[in-house]
Amino acid sequence: MMAPRTFNTVREKLYWTYSNLAMAHAALVQGSPKYTRVNYMIRAKLNKGLLTGKMKLGSLFDDEREKMTHEKACHHCGAKENLSIDHLFCVKMGGSDCADNLVWSCKSCNSSKGKLDYLEWMQRRGEFPPLLVLRRYLKLVITWLDENGLMDEDLASFSQCHPEAPFKIDYLPGSFPAPGELVLWKEKNHELVPPKSAAK
Ligand SMILES: [Zn+2]
Repeated sequence: MMAPRTFNTVREKLYWTYSNLAMAHAALVQGSPKYTRVNYMIRAKLNKGLLTGKMKLGSLFDDEREKMTHEKACHHCGAKENLSIDHLFCVKMGGSDCADNLVWSCKSCNSSKGKLDYLEWMQRRGEFPPLLVLRRYLKLVITWLDENGLMDEDLASFSQCHPEAPFKIDYLPGSFPAPGELVLWKEKNHELVPPKSAAK
């Protein structure tokens, strides 16, 4: 068994989570039930590239494009009725009205989520977030930290030192479920959404 990974700064934790996401995304798009050696290589390479500054995160523009081409449905449960706009970073926690922070949500999910942090809410529901919503969330977190010059803050004391942050860093997933348990988007009845072709 490998020793659990430890992180000193929020940067290390976020890049690792983002690299896990890229690994999971690649495996899901391939339809692989388990992570392969190539998937692990993708993760290691991206993590190293991000830490050394040789690689960059994809822009939020990609997420906007996916949002527009995806069928209009609740990002949390896949419902197509009673849709409203949900702030991924809750307004009460300082979330903004800019498009990057907005997703479709049905009224039921919107009121269930309330003032909770998105990942905190997901954890209470006992669900792992759909990958494309998690990707948007992670980019929002990283953008906020970058803009506030806080990427190199100490991870362990971050929540205590920065109650003004519009997210809760402690809920970032430390590890990801097997690709067979993941979805790109939620569909009603939790059906697996067949991934679109990776070539675009
Ligand atoms: Zn919903």
